[in-house]
Amino acid sequence: MDLETPLTNVKGVGPARAALLEAKGLVTVEDLLAYVPFRYEDRSNVKTIAQLAPGEMATVIASVHSAKLSGFKRRNLGMFEARFTDASRAILVGKWFHGGYLANVLGDGMRVALFGKVEFDSYSGELTMLHPEFEILSGDEEGDATLHVGRVVPIYEGIGKITTRQLRIFTHRILGELGPIEDPLPEHLRARFKLPDRATAIREAHFPPPESDLRLFNAFRSQAQFRLIFEEFFWLECGVALKRSKARTVTGIAFEINAKIRERVRQMLPFRPTGAQKRVIQEIVADMREAHPMNRLLQGDVGSGKTIVAAEAGVIAIENGYQVAVLAPTEILAAQHAFYFRRILTPLGYTTVLLTGSFTNREKEKLKQLISGGLAQVVVGTHALLEKDVEFHRLGLAIVDEQHRFGVMQRLQLAQKGAQPDVLVMTATPIPRTLAMTLYGDLDVSTIDELPPGRKPIVTKHATADGIERVYSFLKRQVLEGRQAYVVYPVIEESETQAMKAAQQMYEHLSREVFPDLAVGLMHGRLGGDEKEAVMQRFKDGAIQILVSTTVIEVGMDVPNASVMVVEQAERFGLAQLHQLRGRVGRGAAQSYCILVTEKMNDTARERIRTLVDSNDGFHIAEIDLKLRGPGEFFGTRQSGLPALRIANVLRDAEILVVARREAVEFVARPPGEEDLRRAVAYIRDHWQRRYGLVTVG
Ligand code: ADP
Ligand code: MG
Repeated sequence: MDLETPLTNVKGVGPARAALLEAKGLVTVEDLLAYVPFRYEDRSNVKTIAQLAPGEMATVIASVHSAKLSGFKRRNLGMFEARFTDASRAILVGKWFHGGYLANVLGDGMRVALFGKVEFDSYSGELTMLHPEFEILSGDEEGDATLHVGRVVPIYEGIGKITTRQLRIFTHRILGELGPIEDPLPEHLRARFKLPDRATAIREAHFPPPESDLRLFNAFRSQAQFRLIFEEFFWLECGVALKRSKARTVTGIAFEINAKIRERVRQMLPFRPTGAQKRVIQEIVADMREAHPMNRLLQGDVGSGKTIVAAEAGVIAIENGYQVAVLAPTEILAAQHAFYFRRILTPLGYTTVLLTGSFTNREKEKLKQLISGGLAQVVVGTHALLEKDVEFHRLGLAIVDEQHRFGVMQRLQLAQKGAQPDVLVMTATPIPRTLAMTLYGDLDVSTIDELPPGRKPIVTKHATADGIERVYSFLKRQVLEGRQAYVVYPVIEESETQAMKAAQQMYEHLSREVFPDLAVGLMHGRLGGDEKEAVMQRFKDGAIQILVSTTVIEVGMDVPNASVMVVEQAERFGLAQLHQLRGRVGRGAAQSYCILVTEKMNDTARERIRTLVDSNDGFHIAEIDLKLRGPGEFFGTRQSGLPALRIANVLRDAEILVVARREAVEFVARPPGEEDLRRAVAYIRDHWQRRYGLVTVG
């Protein structure tokens, strides 16, 4: 057995289990060995129930003496209570709220290992554990009892129906049959950090040797775990460094900047850029002058003024005789950008066109001619821009807004419409810089960390649905003072039609019953492109006072007079989305308000709402979001181009990441020997390419 052996060759892994494992991305022996325990339990010194003391975390091995379910059995709402006993004849009570499902799991006489906090119930005078973790020890013919008790045992996250116990058995079996494995990590690093070799690290990460300090293991800081985490980051960062050094050998456009061009940029600016805007434009300009393609991420909070920075870069490209493409995820945002670019670029004599999916074929044909003939200098559009037959005369700068809505594929498709154009991607979901530099891999990062002057922080309030009357009367007072407002309804991705219906109904309710004297408008995703533009225009002009909408307005609306944002069923939105929605207000001089109305909330929803009420800072919000959702979900699927980390965790292991990154950059720039670098490149190619996706390293 070696690392490449398919898991189906492991005894006990049949087709059904193999399918479950594969769904988790676990196909080979190496994959399963990378699936490390999330916790370790010391069962070497198991206590008897009689020895337990209230307040301690403890493991006991005991049998179910009796079990009962009280409460609403059918809806799984009841409390499940099992009484356990062991050789000491004492009783321990395990309690599980909503534990109805356990009635079919824990039966009389079963032997189990229980782990949890011991408490003393002064009412009944009994020792109890609330929601203890447990593992059934009897009734599993595959079981080798000495693997599960009487030692330190690894606890794995179950995979579908595959339990922690089965995963322990498989891993143990594999480690017993695995031949020698090579250690790809450069020798000098192993020596410097006193790292165990790979085989030892893997073995100990699954089965810590006796006498290990379990606190270290449970904190993921044993030498074995450190080595695996470090290694994973190291290869990732080597891959990133190699990609970067390779990108520096590609020839791109060296844009020229002279006094005349600087003057043109100055002419265009409708206001004085903030210090942060000046700094990032300098970073972008430096890239544009280089004879290599720029690959830069511009991050900044909602409303921090990224668009004008993009426009400055655009002027430079155009003055050099090139075209600019701007890709946006929604029609509304594309229309907003087209509007913005036209307003500031038409006076300079440039033509901006908008291309979206909702144009007729005739219109599209005409636009495509303008684009391929080079008559349009700026081309703004949605996915429709990416279609094959959209050809540019001379594309020099490709801009992707709200890049988290697109994948690497689309960024590449857009760039391929030119000959190595510069690429600028923008995002309003900013993350701490060190993290961004690492995780966005091949992108350099610029950050706008300052808002335009004179912005008043938005006041955010939480209201419950039964207080909606007060929300509406507040909204009405604001409108009567001359402001405008948004009322947003949640869209569930799968059913835009339903969301549209909900918004439509609400629109009728609000316009007829609640605000009969005010001008209420409706916006949703099913409107045609020009209908959307017409609604947007009427809202801009003030002809619509209250705009009822689905989340299609999340990005793109820029109406400074709008000062109230009401989000209904706010518990159904994600943090980033709520922050974006809130960013639609607070763009003018008046005090703005965001009111989050909720119906029923769970704990994380409550945490999200609290975060927004407490903070207006996009960086802080992104960090909390990252914590609440976990890095995997936060950064999205493979589509986003980020390799999935298996053992390392960017939040928990941030300091190790910094060290690994430093070592990787150093290693790629000054490898100890040619042979070391060659081996590393080969290793990354064989093991990481699949996870990087498209881009080839080395
Ligand atoms: P975002 O970063 O969210 O894309 P925008 O580019 O839409 O932000 O800018 C938000 C608003 O702030 C726009 O109305 C823009 O014109 C305005 N703005 C941007 N920069 C400045 C500045 N330096 N001074 C004044 N207003 C600015
Ligand atoms: Mg923007």
